[in-house]
Amino acid sequence: PAFAGARDVRKDFPGLVTAEGKPWHYLDTAATAQKPRAVIDAVSRAIGTDYATVHRGVYTRSAEMTLGYEAARRRVAGFIGGREEELVLTRGATEAINLVAYSYPRKGRVLLSTLEHHSNIVPWQLAGWQVDVCPLTEDGRIDLDAAERMLTKDHTMVAFAHVSNVLGSVLDAKRAAELAHSVGAKLLLDGCQAVPRLPVDVSEIGCDFYAFSAHKLYGPTGIGALWGRAELLDAMPPWQGGGSMIEKVTFENTTYAPPPQRFEAGTPAIVEAIGFAAACDYVERVGTERIHAHECALVGHLREALHGMNDVTLFGPADSAGIVSFAMRGVHPHDLGTILDEEHVAIRAGHHCAQPLMAHLGVPATARASFGLYSDESDVEALLRGIDRTRRIFG
Ligand code: PMP
Repeated sequence: PAFAGARDVRKDFPGLVTAEGKPWHYLDTAATAQKPRAVIDAVSRAIGTDYATVHRGVYTRSAEMTLGYEAARRRVAGFIGGREEELVLTRGATEAINLVAYSYPRKGRVLLSTLEHHSNIVPWQLAGWQVDVCPLTEDGRIDLDAAERMLTKDHTMVAFAHVSNVLGSVLDAKRAAELAHSVGAKLLLDGCQAVPRLPVDVSEIGCDFYAFSAHKLYGPTGIGALWGRAELLDAMPPWQGGGSMIEKVTFENTTYAPPPQRFEAGTPAIVEAIGFAAACDYVERVGTERIHAHECALVGHLREALHGMNDVTLFGPADSAGIVSFAMRGVHPHDLGTILDEEHVAIRAGHHCAQPLMAHLGVPATARASFGLYSDESDVEALLRGIDRTRRIFG
């Protein structure tokens, strides 16, 4: 097999060593993933020898870059089982969700959940939606039985994280789509943490919008995607104006291009789009099924070890997809993070842009270890050693 575990792929990631050339135990992939050489090289070519603008040039280089950019759109769409005309390239998941919150024409009530990232809360508030909040189950999943009871004909949107960035809980996305549709609402999935960790097929799920970011999928920052059903995107007015999104401009009456161009005002993130496609290629070569199984095994090992420590509280479900949040009694997560850094172990400590979830858990912050396709047992062991050392330091 092409992927016998992280050992084979680690050498593809130049970022996985410290400045002194020591192994770096990077356990913050949920924040952003390290990049494989294939992505770095694709970005380097795009900004170097292949560089030109898109959609305008009459010269060969620009025409080629336009083909490359549109091929990237096709590649990204295909990665989640969508079609290119339904794939808007955005600045990231945050912009993708803002786009829907502002432009979806049937603004009304939106059902969110307690575990949402701020980027799937604040846009709805800003755009004037009435927000309802679906509670969680005891083990930290979105409680779809509660959602079923809460949904009404007034709800025009349901917007849930496909995978929680704090707890790693995986949504039953198909059921969420059925529930939303049963009251005439649409389902938007925040797929930031799902796309790098699970096989995702939007047509199989039956959702209506799907948002994600390239940088969490081993691609560049500054680009992401909104997939939306063609008829829904078609009915949405533009939300930013400028070049490239128009059909004809006059001072009296400007008309707009069809989607996805309608939602891509200005010169796009050309280089990043090429890198995004290279990231999809790389992840597909490794295989999302294998990545998922690999990360689940690491989660199992880490959770079991933490479970045996009586000063550690574990959050989230046992079958979390690659993400483990925990708290150590008497040690602030920031202190733990700082001590771990001395051991070349990088975790995230904080509220993870999910303050309502922290309030629900009754903690100001958690420590979070998150895995990627390159993570291995040595990372888990280094984290556990660091926790032991922290315990000794704090007495
Ligand atoms: N949703 C989730 C679940 C996330 O983990 C993140 C990134 N932490 C976002 C949304 C926002 O993504 P970005 O900052 O790349 O737009």
